[in-house]
Amino acid sequence: MLHIPADIIQDMIAHARELAPHECCGILSGKQETVVESYRITNILANMSQQELSRFEGAKLSDLQRLSPEERADIAFQMDAREMAMAQRDIRTKNADLIGFYHSHTASPARPSQTDVTIAMEFEHYRTKLNLPEPLHLIISLENAESPDVRAYRIQDSQATEVSIQQSSV
Ligand SMILES: [Zn+2]
Repeated sequence: MLHIPADIIQDMIAHARELAPHECCGILSGKQETVVESYRITNILANMSQQELSRFEGAKLSDLQRLSPEERADIAFQMDAREMAMAQRDIRTKNADLIGFYHSHTASPARPSQTDVTIAMEFEHYRTKLNLPEPLHLIISLENAESPDVRAYRIQDSQATEVSIQQSSV
């Protein structure tokens, strides 16, 4: 069970709506199973044209360029590495833990896509080397515009298992 304050859930939904039709992304931190803070991270793909993408030679896009166009559309987000590092530094300073990552699905259900699972497994490889805590993966779906759906998953051995979310009012 993951506990998330209602205002953080509302902020993730607002973030998803602001960026639609592009996907938003961010980081959640806290203590154990309780989220305390969220960090909006710039989706560097949101403002890049296809042409810019093909010219971009940053190491973080090298994996992306290996993907087929369908797979790339399926991910549609790439967190800004500098902002991620800043968020992680802030989390350490506050003696909190990285609890998870969130991103939006603007037109599909709040379930990890095959590409989401692949990327989570790539992160697992790197995470175990760095001895970071296992993150949860949250997805905000705007498929039903009137009632956005927010769900959390643990992704291990290429299997996504849903973790229930308890919204707290404070
Ligand atoms: Zn996704």
